[in-house]
Amino acid sequence: MENEKLVKKTEQKSEEPPEPNFEEPPSTKLCLKEIPSSTQEVRHPIASIEALAKYLPLNEQVKIALKQVIKSYQMLITPYYLSLIKDVMDPHDPIRRQCVPSLEEIRENEHETMDPLAEEKTSVTPFLVHRYPDRALLLVTGRCFMYCRHCTRKRLWKAKNAEPSLREIDQALRYVKDKPQIREIIVSGGDPLTLHSERLDYILSAIRQIKSVEVMRIGTRTPVVNPQRIDAMLCRILEKYENLWINVQFNHPAEVTPQAAEACRKLQRCGIPLSNQAVLLKGVNDNPDVMKQLMQKLQAIRVRPYYLYQCDPVVGANHFRTSVYQGIEIIEKLRGHTSGMCIPTFVVDGTEGKGKIPLGPNYLISLAKDQVTLRNYKNEVIQYYNPQG
Ligand SMILES: *Cc1c(COP(=O)(O)O)cnc(C)c1O
Repeated sequence: MENEKLVKKTEQKSEEPPEPNFEEPPSTKLCLKEIPSSTQEVRHPIASIEALAKYLPLNEQVKIALKQVIKSYQMLITPYYLSLIKDVMDPHDPIRRQCVPSLEEIRENEHETMDPLAEEKTSVTPFLVHRYPDRALLLVTGRCFMYCRHCTRKRLWKAKNAEPSLREIDQALRYVKDKPQIREIIVSGGDPLTLHSERLDYILSAIRQIKSVEVMRIGTRTPVVNPQRIDAMLCRILEKYENLWINVQFNHPAEVTPQAAEACRKLQRCGIPLSNQAVLLKGVNDNPDVMKQLMQKLQAIRVRPYYLYQCDPVVGANHFRTSVYQGIEIIEKLRGHTSGMCIPTFVVDGTEGKGKIPLGPNYLISLAKDQVTLRNYKNEVIQYYNPQG
């Protein structure tokens, strides 16, 4: 009886952790040192080639080669995401391509770097990148539930110190506090939703205490790779933050499953608007029809397409990169042909930390003082009276 009580008590405790003390300003926070940084381990994640070979037919030669690859770039796949592979015999499956290592990863290309956006060099404090005047990016963890093969922050997978301590978070937030022009914090990583809910709550509440920060934005792939993580306790935490937006990353229509849609719905019920940041990936979505399907499926679950990224020149992702022109062409084939709500902005993230540069089809043919020549999505040319400004 005593024992039973004890078990019940500890169970309850893990469900309802004690509320952190929100009254404490960030700089005196160390009371929360004991919060474990990571949580919600996926049951039986696939992290070895032998484990992978139980699901996918891999011959001995391929297994040996892939073991070599994952020494450079580790593998971690959720069983859920792996289950989305339609045909295990198809090495070109778009789901497989995003999660299963490829020999092509170790064929490096001279244009590739470990940190294509120069985030390390341009950090203003460890884990804080302040590139634009009014918003800053805070990397709260290097961990993900799944390591995407096209990841632009592979450097964090290996980093010994990929997890900011609460002291470093505090240091970053003190920087933000000193710069009142920063009105938005982008909380990313890694995947912030891999953090222990209580730690995430602590970080969000510390950000919320900074008066000049009007908006918080989380970047996560959790609804796509581990939708079960969007549970009631996480929702109870997230719904407290009324200025919170979430950006997800769906790259292929096959990822928009009933489970993923349910995870999105739970977040939306918390009042959180969801947007999508897709990456243009060769052999995954570099096709106007696939992209249109993806965008329409997202619109149907009320996830607004936001960006479509050119795949960054990060090491080991050469086999994913397409010509920039292909991205422009995909946008051209969306605009006018489907709902304007389904059209993301295609962006190239400039190397050396130069920031995102939008690219799109040109509809302006010529511009004169009193007349502009324009074309529409069907390539019909019109003359349009240009009012004097
Ligand atoms: C992408 C990014 C942002 C956010 O840019 P938006 O155009 O507002 O989405 C902010 N800071 C850094 C460093 C970024 O890379």
